[in-house]
Amino acid sequence: MTLLPLLSLLLAPIVPGVSGDGLTGPGVSRALAERRAAQIAQVRYALQLDVTRRDTAVGHARVRFVRRGGGDVILDFRGLGYSNVMANGATASPRDEHGHLVIAAAALRDGENEVALDFQAAIAPAGASVIRVHDAVDNADYLYTLLVPADANQLFPCFDQPDLKGRVTLSLTTPRDWTAVANGRVTTVDSASALTFRFAESEPISTYLVAFAAGPWSVKSAVIDGRPISIYARASRAREVESDTLIALNARAIAWLEKYTAKSFPFQKFDFVLAPAFPFGGMEHPGAIFYNEESFIYRERPTLSQLLGREATIFHEVAHQWFGDFATMRWFDDLWLKEGFATYLAAVMQADLDPGANAWKTFYLRNKPAAYAVDASSGTTPVWQQLGNLDQAKSNYGAIVYNKAPGILKQLNYLVGDTAFRDGLRAYLRDHAYSNATWRDLLGAVGGAAHRPLDGWGASYILRPGMPVITPHVEMRGGKILRLTIEQHPARALSGSAPWPARVELLLGYAGGPSERIQVELRGRVTDVPVAGRRAPDFIFANAADYGYALVHLDDRSVRWLETHIGEVRDDFLRAMLWGALWDQVRDARLEPVRFARTALRELPRETDEQLVPVILGRLSRAVSAYLSPTEQGRLRPEVERVLLANANDSTRSYGVRKNHLDTYVALAHSPQALATLDALLDSTAAAGAPLRPPTRWAIVTTLVARAAPSAEARLAAEWRRDSTTEGRRRAFVANAAHPDSATKAQYWARYFGDRALNEDWVTASLRAFHDPEHDELTRRYLVPALDSLPWIQRNRRIFFLGNWVSATLDGQRSASALAAVDEMLRRRAGLPRDLRAKILQSRDELERTVAIRRAFP
Ligand SMILES: [Zn+2]
Repeated sequence: MTLLPLLSLLLAPIVPGVSGDGLTGPGVSRALAERRAAQIAQVRYALQLDVTRRDTAVGHARVRFVRRGGGDVILDFRGLGYSNVMANGATASPRDEHGHLVIAAAALRDGENEVALDFQAAIAPAGASVIRVHDAVDNADYLYTLLVPADANQLFPCFDQPDLKGRVTLSLTTPRDWTAVANGRVTTVDSASALTFRFAESEPISTYLVAFAAGPWSVKSAVIDGRPISIYARASRAREVESDTLIALNARAIAWLEKYTAKSFPFQKFDFVLAPAFPFGGMEHPGAIFYNEESFIYRERPTLSQLLGREATIFHEVAHQWFGDFATMRWFDDLWLKEGFATYLAAVMQADLDPGANAWKTFYLRNKPAAYAVDASSGTTPVWQQLGNLDQAKSNYGAIVYNKAPGILKQLNYLVGDTAFRDGLRAYLRDHAYSNATWRDLLGAVGGAAHRPLDGWGASYILRPGMPVITPHVEMRGGKILRLTIEQHPARALSGSAPWPARVELLLGYAGGPSERIQVELRGRVTDVPVAGRRAPDFIFANAADYGYALVHLDDRSVRWLETHIGEVRDDFLRAMLWGALWDQVRDARLEPVRFARTALRELPRETDEQLVPVILGRLSRAVSAYLSPTEQGRLRPEVERVLLANANDSTRSYGVRKNHLDTYVALAHSPQALATLDALLDSTAAAGAPLRPPTRWAIVTTLVARAAPSAEARLAAEWRRDSTTEGRRRAFVANAAHPDSATKAQYWARYFGDRALNEDWVTASLRAFHDPEHDELTRRYLVPALDSLPWIQRNRRIFFLGNWVSATLDGQRSASALAAVDEMLRRRAGLPRDLRAKILQSRDELERTVAIRRAFP
């Protein structure tokens, strides 16, 4: 597809998501869901699906249900086509309205009914509910489904809403040399000209959790504590899979959750798939979890953060089997119920299973900065997010449900104590077994166990958007504290002015001596802390141990002390939070970015925490590439390059620390000398004390291309020949996007929208290279079209794509004129749906801060 027709497509008027009578308009409206929840019960799906054709799945469905109170019955189906519709054995002619099949009341009866039909659904690399991934090494195809949040009806006719759970019986016909996995256990395999796998009937599950994967997978099985577990991986990568480790981690999580919840594993069996080109980290299908192959198989030695990230993903998806799969939110407005719990319990689990691993530091680093970045923006939303139609459910995914929700659960647990929290969750699971619940049910259960009402807490943390900023104020005289208060105010006016109820730990830090921690209950706008007369601290931090959910400001005296002494703070967890607080000062344009960068450059050579180092490096990168003025950039870059390279080459340092420095050096290399160093590295066999492998080689090539280094084209061609794997092809696609010329950018832009064979995961992977901040003048012309394309993206791409798309686009810009263009677009598009406007505002925040910082420190 060329650029021109595409642009005209993008400029088409925006059609709101809900239309018609609200019941059979596009998508699944709340009104339709409520009507069906009252009308329909005891749903069963018997599905026969043939996936032997390359582009089309051919199926037959029998949908059985109990109808109460009469009326037409509305099924959802957006597949390629259907025929031979029968209702209770007689031919039926359903009305077909906006992806719904309306079966007339006259064809139905009270009590049990059966609707049967033939149907076809698409199989494609992107934009279909059955994803096909081609393996370049052995020329094989792999298929897997991805139906969340509301694409089950793209695959088969169903009642596509989370609170109409159904029992699914699947029979899947595949090519002869394939194998298959689904929610239920395999009961029989018939072989004729093709293979037919019959799976046992599943427990009652929501439609978004129905899943299968099929292909020439390599399967490895083990039995742990009497439970058989199988892992499915691509045959071409099977040798690289750490099967025993992965099976053991999944089994450990199951055993821990059975004990913590006092509820045995709620599904008939447990298997998992390492899905290639998977657009998420993982997906929690009951009995058949899909994990992202790319973050589960390492092509080079992993760092500690990568290993912990993989473990956190496993614990998260396994926790979902109870929180999400077994007890499910009634509607996607409560998406946080499942996502908040999965992430929070993953951390509780990690802290319990591995007490030495400092799981709460990991939890802080992986969640809080991401949550605060969105929650302090003008595009933030409440944790509970109103949702009129499931076709907008994708917009509810993001930092608020994935990062804020677990953060407020930590605060809730601290408030009610471990025993009441756990007992409340046990009661919640008992009351909503194989069924659905809302946030009020959860707070009712936890509040009941804690013997305290949580309505006020819910109003503050669940229903209200935004977050508090807490600032300590201290007066000192003669080396002693005279008065210490903690003030709180909302980060944004959109939150209203009331204070949040919160319990935090205030820390008084002393150089060389033990610090003091005081539990403080914040109730009003200003809270007095009774510490008058204590020795004057060197620094104060108002959220030690990270129990509170708040942006924590530092007072000026603490900033000054930390700038020179932060490395002397021994407690890793506290030091991680203090680095976060210093960075927040920079983002608020209250601390000059070059001062932060100098502190980072001074501390990095002695910082040993393998999780904190990459975070500091990430902030240093952002400061250098976006916040510093061009003059400061030029002045600081040689030192940045020198420190990064020296640390990467320092054999006295741990592998993880060296590798993180190498990665940042590769990303930031700018001077001719640094680019020549990178070029030479491609001829060596080792870097950062480990063998130099394709991921790092591709990163180097991408930088050479992005900076138009003299050897870039030759190196790109050589790497293409050297790494012919699927992953190599994907990395080459990313490297090519980094070309700093307008023809390349135009070509990629056209393919993003017009190339149906292009896998969505490849597009996502290439966005940061396309929008390299150094190319902001080249990509500036795509800024407004990229935002105008959001309705198309919402319809055609998967859950996380839209957020990645907007943030990559806006993070690639640094200028006041780009910010003005975004604001002009928001003004012009007054009818832009609320959820899309919010997504733009969330990412606009970083651009606004960038512009403000560059203005404040020119
Ligand atoms: Zn999840």
